[in-house]
Amino acid sequence: MEDLNSNPYHEVFTRQKANQFKIGNSTYKERIKKLDALKTALEVNYKQKIREAMYADFKKPFLETDLTEIYPVLTEIKFAKNNLKSWMKDQKVDTPLALLGASSYIVYEPKGVCLIISPWNFPINLTFGPLVSAIAAGNTVIIKPSEMTPNASKVMADIVKDLFQDDEVALFEGEVEVSENLLKLPFNHIFFTGSPQVGKIVMKAASKHLTSVTLELGGKSPTIIDDSANLEKAVEKLIFGKFTNAGQTCIAPDYVLLQDTLEEKFKSLFKEKIKTFYTDNAEASESYCRIVNAKHFERLTGYIEEAKHNTSTIVSGGASNSSDHFIEPTLVFDAPEDSKLMQDEIFGPILPVKTFTSLQEPVDYINSKEKPLALYIYSKSSKNIDFIISNTRAGSGCVNHNLLQFLNHNLPFGGSNNSGIGKSHGFFGFEAFSNKRAMMKQHTMGATDLLTPPYTNFKQKLIDLTLKWF
Ligand code: NAD
Repeated sequence: MEDLNSNPYHEVFTRQKANQFKIGNSTYKERIKKLDALKTALEVNYKQKIREAMYADFKKPFLETDLTEIYPVLTEIKFAKNNLKSWMKDQKVDTPLALLGASSYIVYEPKGVCLIISPWNFPINLTFGPLVSAIAAGNTVIIKPSEMTPNASKVMADIVKDLFQDDEVALFEGEVEVSENLLKLPFNHIFFTGSPQVGKIVMKAASKHLTSVTLELGGKSPTIIDDSANLEKAVEKLIFGKFTNAGQTCIAPDYVLLQDTLEEKFKSLFKEKIKTFYTDNAEASESYCRIVNAKHFERLTGYIEEAKHNTSTIVSGGASNSSDHFIEPTLVFDAPEDSKLMQDEIFGPILPVKTFTSLQEPVDYINSKEKPLALYIYSKSSKNIDFIISNTRAGSGCVNHNLLQFLNHNLPFGGSNNSGIGKSHGFFGFEAFSNKRAMMKQHTMGATDLLTPPYTNFKQKLIDLTLKWF
């Protein structure tokens, strides 16, 4: 058994553990106050610093930072504020007649000391979003943001320090080693957002203490476009979904399965619309961000090099500039199935398209792979939409759009199996950070009191009657 006392984070962990009942017994109003403080930090005090940090990390445009980093956390806070009172209330449930004399209810109790490990691609959103749910549910929290976006991590560290004592919320910057050490501690819940590969490491570490996990993972999210779709609108939305954040989005459309009759029209619409979004020269566009680091830049340009040397056709884009990790929005047709583009999660601005003749083909293709985090459909045919939804499996999706499912806090957000375990956002996030404690309260003598030993014939008859009628 490893000695946890030598773990660099054990001391803070122990103080959070000691503080968990004070935090857990906080009132609705006290929790709202903390959420309000976070709101003010994001909306006012640190807004410009967040924008500058994101620009320094990967040239993310200020407007895109407002839209995809700050705004989703603010709406998560607003939603929690509007609903927290009812979420925190004990939830009455029916009690069967056989248990007459008792009442039953569910207590949403805090899990306790929680760990949030977040990725680099939307660092503010995917760190503070889960933090809102953890605070709403009354937990103490240790956060480990990604080492790949150090400027964003630094601002978040400043915000956390500004708003919380470290026996309530603490943030540790640093390399993977920090996560590895944190994962040795017996947390009550781990909320991890990142790749399926690291998700497995997290789940294995959690199993040592039987810590519950929420795993928000990734994978290849397909888009199907059939011949009934409004193709112009589909291409516009697809470009928005794929090239926002330069494709470094977990729910970005990874590849397209396109009805073959649409191929030529799709290619020309793509070339036209990409210019509308990012001009003739995406490198000079203020609206287009960069790849996060050299490692990912080389991985992605490797896909383009591979496409130049196999049966693929690069229909649009393909250029890159290593000096600031720029990769042009790139459209590729006919990538072979064994190419990296069709096997790996792309997580960058390269869009492969595969054509199909009958709708069974994309369904079979999707089902031959891991369950995706998102599946998008562009179609005007309800029959086709229903067919695709009922014959595939995915964490989430949109019909005739993409990404937007993330922004509705009434919807659970998360994957399925390889793309994730558990859900987040709104009530589902509150639920992820809560234990549903099942309670029964006995008010009067109950029917079950008649069934204790010694077991007589009369009691046998009573049980037979109960099983028959209740
Ligand atoms: P990652 O899995 O490499 O890293 C995520 C976090 O885990 C980082 O904080 C990192 O420091 C830590 N980490 C890395 N290796 C570790 C290890 N061996 N042990 C312990 N911790 C470790 O993911 P990433 O590159 O930051 O993000 C990209 C991935 O995340 C993609 O697969 C994407 O689809 C997925 N993602 C999913 C969601 C979602 O909500 N489902 C959102 C964003 C990103």
